[in-house]
Amino acid sequence: MSHLMNTYARLPIAFTRGEGVWLWDEAGRRYLDALAGIAVNGLGHGHPRLVKAIADQAAQLIHTSNIYRVLRQEQLADRLCELSGMAQAFFCSSGAEANEAAIKLARLYGHQRGVEIPTIVVMEKAWHGRTIATLSATGSRKAQAGFEPLVAGFVRVPYNDLDAVRAVAEHNRNIVAVLLEPIQGEGGINVADIAYQQGLHALCRERGWLYMVDEVQSGIGRTGSWFAFEHAGVKPDVMALAKGLGSGVPIGACLADGAAADVFKPGNHGTTFGGGPLVCAAALATLDIMAEEGLLANAARQGARLQDALETGLKGVAGVVEIRGQGLMLGIELDRPCAEIVKQALEEGLLVNVTSDKVVRLLPPLILEDGHTDQIAAILVPIIKRFLGA
Ligand SMILES: *Cc1c(COP(=O)(O)O)cnc(C)c1O
Repeated sequence: MSHLMNTYARLPIAFTRGEGVWLWDEAGRRYLDALAGIAVNGLGHGHPRLVKAIADQAAQLIHTSNIYRVLRQEQLADRLCELSGMAQAFFCSSGAEANEAAIKLARLYGHQRGVEIPTIVVMEKAWHGRTIATLSATGSRKAQAGFEPLVAGFVRVPYNDLDAVRAVAEHNRNIVAVLLEPIQGEGGINVADIAYQQGLHALCRERGWLYMVDEVQSGIGRTGSWFAFEHAGVKPDVMALAKGLGSGVPIGACLADGAAADVFKPGNHGTTFGGGPLVCAAALATLDIMAEEGLLANAARQGARLQDALETGLKGVAGVVEIRGQGLMLGIELDRPCAEIVKQALEEGLLVNVTSDKVVRLLPPLILEDGHTDQIAAILVPIIKRFLGA
């Protein structure tokens, strides 16, 4: 009998070691990691420079408190603002907390403008986390069921539908912000159209709403640029980051700009662990390594190569609905639930994931090389064909 709470239907496998794109299980069997801990291990496993940065910082100083200045945190805020064009950063320890900060910021912003019941527009199929507020913002009834009452102050619209947002704006005077994943991750790798993002951004400007993006999964190089919002060329007022930021150490960030900057004052928000020296050193090393090793360009190139190989391999196969995504954030939607594919791939030494029941999701490390990319396709294509009876 396990003493773990039964929150995960875990696969019966435990990894004991990792190097680059490879993981080894207890029996010494090797796996090609095309999931990267769900978009976390962008540098792969055991990157020597990251390991050294963490070890050096651990030896020097792990934690003090946000009661004091934290130099590594200040450096990381500078670096993230330089990369994103944003003005300020708040650090926390997860994606859900980054979104909690965004939600609180938007509410405070609303109250400061005399809106009594500040309301945030959120999307169908959105995923923002599992805390009560972020769960309420999340567009998954499955995740929400049993946890009612949910938090009020959200209004939900279909994804990629600007008219739906305009229609809500007509009768709801309490809207203060929109929260959007430029590419939905858990929702099935759904890509927001460029024109939609631009239109939504313009609508936010027109109405004085905050344009908030959840880039917890899509940020930090995953889509071939530092942030997915760059593909649409519209800078957000608020951005949530986490997964890839610390290469596996728990760090999240909420960045603010423009009207969203300076909304929080001392006492409005905080956290004990957020932005400590250790996690900030890991994030700083992650960003340095990504820049110096050209991992953004590599993510774009390998992503295109992988998408090509999948499209070629699955061309004309009945049951494949769509192959989509950007950079190394890819999904293969099938016409039926396909969770079994995860186990079949595991048997063949490949780690993938299925999300939204029908979407095979690939989030490999950004250090992927041509040979790895080709190997992912070479293993996965026959599995999908067999699964579909093609
Ligand atoms: C994973 C994810 C979250 C939640 O992050 P946690 O670290 O699990 O709390 C929020 N938003 C998006 C887009 C995510 O992919």
